[in-house]
Amino acid sequence: MVATTDVDQQLGALLGETTTEIDVPRKNRVFCNRNMRMDSIEVIGFDMDYTLALYHQDRLERLSIELTLGKLIDKHGYPEQIRDIHYDPRWAIRGVMVDRQLGNVFKLDRHSFVGRCYHGFRELTHDERKAAYRNEKINLSNDRFEWIDTLFGLPEAVMYTTLVDWADRQTGTPAYDKLFGDIRTAIDEAHRDDTLKSVIKADLPSYIVKDPLLGEALHKFRSSGKKLFLLTNSLYDYTAVVMSYLLDGERKAYPSWRNYFDIVIVGGAKPAFFNELRPFVQIDPQTYQPISTNGEIKHLSRDKIYQGGNVVAFEQMTGIKGEQVLYIGDHIYGDILRLRKQHMWRTAMVLQELEREISVSDRLEAQIQDLELLDRRHRNLESEIDYQSLRLKKIHRLLEEPTTNASLRVRLEEERKMMRASIDALRDRANLMDAEVDSLEARIDRAYNSHWGSCLREGNENSRFGEQVNDYADLYTSRVSNFGPYSPLRYFRAPRRPMPHEI
Ligand SMILES: [Mg+2]
Repeated sequence: MVATTDVDQQLGALLGETTTEIDVPRKNRVFCNRNMRMDSIEVIGFDMDYTLALYHQDRLERLSIELTLGKLIDKHGYPEQIRDIHYDPRWAIRGVMVDRQLGNVFKLDRHSFVGRCYHGFRELTHDERKAAYRNEKINLSNDRFEWIDTLFGLPEAVMYTTLVDWADRQTGTPAYDKLFGDIRTAIDEAHRDDTLKSVIKADLPSYIVKDPLLGEALHKFRSSGKKLFLLTNSLYDYTAVVMSYLLDGERKAYPSWRNYFDIVIVGGAKPAFFNELRPFVQIDPQTYQPISTNGEIKHLSRDKIYQGGNVVAFEQMTGIKGEQVLYIGDHIYGDILRLRKQHMWRTAMVLQELEREISVSDRLEAQIQDLELLDRRHRNLESEIDYQSLRLKKIHRLLEEPTTNASLRVRLEEERKMMRASIDALRDRANLMDAEVDSLEARIDRAYNSHWGSCLREGNENSRFGEQVNDYADLYTSRVSNFGPYSPLRYFRAPRRPMPHEI
């Protein structure tokens, strides 16, 4: 076998170094839910916010909360004192749901049942939760509930939790529904009227993560012959500033960010881009105003900027469709779901939280294994209790039987006594183990987030959010540059997933 190794080394030296997945740290890997051959992908599209441009979440959240509080006080009549409250960012993770009627915020499990739930800062007990939501699935489209599914949306949940707590301490009946409406209106105003974006534009390094490997990753896609396009909901003024900051001058061959992209579409209004027929409009990159194009746009060209548009016209003009396109975004509803449900483009989801989720689970690996073991033992113990209880029942029945003779009766009485003692001992052990499982589970949970645990899990299974990532994103990763080390021809394969009966 020595000869083969020599030949392999020779070959390796001749062909140059290739990276295999094993060299990539787990937190920087691209994960696969649905098989995808990168060599069949001809075009790759990118969302901008939270996809190409990652934000320093804590700073952006602080800014967002500060500006929203300003609007609540100045425009919506809230007292100045709400500015002095501490708004702890840990009160929100992606995937929590707001109940506008009761003033609660909760997490959903895989099947859309309510998991842990807070009213203000107080966690509801099991009974309170049951009284409020019975055992019903939560209908995500009901107006009573608001699903917090973007990182831009996290401040809404933080402010709602904090201000519900505040409102409960004021006189009069708290108007939970109005409170959420006011927060959302104020935050939307801050996003729309440029208050938020003008602060970010004036100090990009404080708010936007500049990833030094991004240009390299995009270049690698291009050099393997793929075409790239940008499709963002942001308007051109903001897009140009952010993209310049991220990419201008990062690589010699690409002096401007525009050099990386074959088509640039801003103000895309996703998900409307995917399910409505808005026209493409060409805009002037200096004035941001629409340019009159004498009727419908027939061709998307590299040196122009487009706004609006729709997927049907996009595919007609580029001649590229469906399985040949990979779209990379961060928003389940805006970027991923529609594409998946209508079997259009392939999708990859950028999950900024993944880096932290993976480092926490790496750090707690031993404890997570302990938990699994403990959980398994607990289950075995419970089935032993079930078995013995069944035997005890049979003994009862035999003792009640008038035909059971006296000597057998004595024997059965003895047996009954023994069984009762044994079941009691098993129950005590099970209770102890139950408490141990709970406390270990809580400790692991707190390492992810002290109130909510991991955003991808709830209890011992996927959270609703984790399940959506699972169901709708073909690939997922923590940042776009993670594609860099992989071959542009890579065949991403989903791991084999056992069903419960196979484990
Ligand atoms: Mg986005």
